[in-house]
Amino acid sequence: MIEARHRLGGTWADTGAREEVRSPADLDRVLGSWPRGGAAEVEAAVAAAGAALAAWRRLPGPERGQRLFEAAQSLEAHRDELAELAAREMGKPIGEARGEAVRAVALFRYYGGEGSRAVGEVIPSQRAGTLQYTVRVPVGVVGVITPWNFPLAIPAWKIAPALAYGNTVVFKPAEWSTLTAHRLVEIVAPHLPDGVLNMVCGTGAEAGEALVRHEGVHAVTFTGSVGVGRRIAEIALARGAKYQLEMGGKNPVIVDADADVELAADLTLSGAMRSAGQKCTATSRAIVLAPVRDAFRDALVRRMRELSVGDPLDPATYLGPVVSRPQYDKVLAAIERGRSEGARLVAGGGPHGGDRRGYFVAPTLFEDVAPSMSLFQEEIFGPVLGLTVARDLDEAISQANAVRYGLSASVFTRRLDVALRCVEELDVGLVRVNEETAGVELQAPFGGVKASSSHSREQGRAAIEFFTHVRTVAIRPS
Ligand code: NAD
Repeated sequence: MIEARHRLGGTWADTGAREEVRSPADLDRVLGSWPRGGAAEVEAAVAAAGAALAAWRRLPGPERGQRLFEAAQSLEAHRDELAELAAREMGKPIGEARGEAVRAVALFRYYGGEGSRAVGEVIPSQRAGTLQYTVRVPVGVVGVITPWNFPLAIPAWKIAPALAYGNTVVFKPAEWSTLTAHRLVEIVAPHLPDGVLNMVCGTGAEAGEALVRHEGVHAVTFTGSVGVGRRIAEIALARGAKYQLEMGGKNPVIVDADADVELAADLTLSGAMRSAGQKCTATSRAIVLAPVRDAFRDALVRRMRELSVGDPLDPATYLGPVVSRPQYDKVLAAIERGRSEGARLVAGGGPHGGDRRGYFVAPTLFEDVAPSMSLFQEEIFGPVLGLTVARDLDEAISQANAVRYGLSASVFTRRLDVALRCVEELDVGLVRVNEETAGVELQAPFGGVKASSSHSREQGRAAIEFFTHVRTVAIRPS
């Protein structure tokens, strides 16, 4: 049992009504609870972050980096425990959860190194003897608001760069992954001066919104749904705070007539079904060129029959439950809507495993999905894949682009000209050739276009853009 608490400056606090956490794979199993913080806890956390800022930003970058390396080492020592907790709390299969824990460690290491890398450039001055250059300065107190689907990696890819570049943090984790977040903070915070990393547990409407509205928060980095992201943008813009939003996706694969169909089926299925489809980069549309439609569909169906759905702690499980009751209801409703719109159900199509006490959804495949259908247009965030046939590449690309989202897209082809056209014409932040739509590496920039993003990038060196300001300096000896 984990009794999560807020981290306010150097102390742990448990103010607020407690919310019980049950395993989505076994609703009889209580895992712990978290306290429902609000404006008062946000006030205390922001005050602590503000008070810690001056000393932390003054610390030389390599020294801040050293703290992150030490945090990475502790996280590594607790890697298996973190993975298991994440798997229990939000239902991700243990193999994937371990991969995510390893990713969180690597993120802290990567940004530890950032503390020692060059920041800024020298720009020639028109005036003789004048030194003109840019430096990067921290934005200040950063509000970090995260979703539940990557309970370790997303907090890590926001918190680690924020700290590396000299900011202090107030972290508001998702309701459905608060126990994992609490453990992460418990492991990382002892490596930092008090007040540098704070956490307020709570709901989005209470703790989240209070954080976004707080005048002491200079920047808000958010990952989550489009509706919440837009609301955060409005509030932040109105008070002149910097904001960064990474939101939903409706990610397509294009299967070219010339594709390696077996490879395409493997990676489409893994993109669609791993983490029960609950990735912002999950594959949810397969746009198939007519000549390979039957071969691709049959290859998918063969594989889908073999997917094991079950206990996330069992290493043989491919697909665990979805995270929560609201998510379960939303996914089942989307499947029903797909049916009523006239898409043809090929596999799955409802709850999995009858009397199981958890939120298990059967891996679901539809075909004859038309671009006008909600199955094609709306993010489902569940193990649901829709198949659409295209006459030719022109039609496939225009279908791929015919949604409001623009996060990730893959093309499976052996032809270089097809690959290059897709790289050029797919309107997304991430294009992948003969690769899954998910699985982007941490040292590369990550983010979307259109409704998927506020158009900034996270991870890799790109993170410096959000977590710092450019300051231009001119120095003339007097
Ligand atoms: P969500 O938008 O419901 O919640 C995300 C976070 O925002 C949570 O911590 C929540 O408490 C908080 N929040 C909710 N209302 C708020 C408010 N009014 N003010 C401030 N904070 C508020 O999203 P979710 O259900 O946790 O996550 C699923 C969504 O996240 C999906 O749409 C998915 O595509 C997206 N996602 C995107 C990426 C990406 O990098 N693009 C990655 C993972 C998930």
